[in-house]
Amino acid sequence: QQTDSAASPEVLLANPRGFCAGVDRAIDIVEHALTRFGAPIYVRHEIVHNTYVVNDLKAKGAVFVEDLEDVPRGGTVVFSAHGVSQAVRDQAQALGLQVFDATCPLVTKVHVEVAKMRREGLEIVMIGHAGHPEVEGTMGQADGIHLVQTVQDVARLAIAPDAPLAYVTQTTLSVDDAVDIVAALRARFPQVREPKKQDICYATQNRQDAVKLLTSQVDVVIVVGSPTSSNSNRLREVAQRMGKPAYMVDSAEDVRAEWLQGASQIGLTAGASAPEALVEQVIARLKSFGAVAVRQLDGVTESVQFPLPRGLLVRAET
Ligand code: SF4
Repeated sequence: QQTDSAASPEVLLANPRGFCAGVDRAIDIVEHALTRFGAPIYVRHEIVHNTYVVNDLKAKGAVFVEDLEDVPRGGTVVFSAHGVSQAVRDQAQALGLQVFDATCPLVTKVHVEVAKMRREGLEIVMIGHAGHPEVEGTMGQADGIHLVQTVQDVARLAIAPDAPLAYVTQTTLSVDDAVDIVAALRARFPQVREPKKQDICYATQNRQDAVKLLTSQVDVVIVVGSPTSSNSNRLREVAQRMGKPAYMVDSAEDVRAEWLQGASQIGLTAGASAPEALVEQVIARLKSFGAVAVRQLDGVTESVQFPLPRGLLVRAET
């Protein structure tokens, strides 16, 4: 319903939005390592997929590398929240690096399951996006894991019809896409074993539920998140599939006035790796474009917290 209130639009904020427990912990690990050991602290891959977070940690002395060969011998390296393959762990050990592992515990849970099921002789299908570091890490826990990205990929799987089989998923998938792919897997392999608890994490599920509620009440949706952020991209897609224009922004300057034309309700959310500071900057920008009010939508309260690895707590906290 577009009324003359479009002249003074309102911003609606999804809840929950922004940082999840795994991202909080990963950033804390780098900051504690910097406090405890001093700069430089090396980080393999972006600690979380967010430009603002990465630049902030760079300014504090973190050095981001893609290849462990770029870390000097004896250096301290943090593995990103997305997790790493066994080959990367072995390489770190061979290079004599001190490692702090910021892999989200919910990703580690999938790693442990995959390795166990392969030892038991099951074929494993991973539902995920090729090239994403979490997928590389999980598929690198054991040999012979099959990647499926779409329903069509299921038909192409070279697995015997009666093979013992299980599936796992990337933690940040679209909940709706995963349902379709799992249904195709079940149709082709009725014996397929389900994860005990779905691998799509609580934060992904909650943010997708929240963006659905948000989208139903607004004219346009803005998602704060970096282009590499899987869960942020999924939030934008969820909104688009509901027929609303939806845009992802890496910073407030990315917001364009023309997106807001005729909108009386502007929806705003943030991916699990996007800090609230960016949300506040986007709100300021929306106000500069004429938004007058900001309203929080209700949503579930999250209380998940993950402890820091041993050996990283600074003295004052032990
Ligand atoms: Fe962990 Fe989920 Fe956050 Fe990824 S999005 S870091 S799996 S809680």
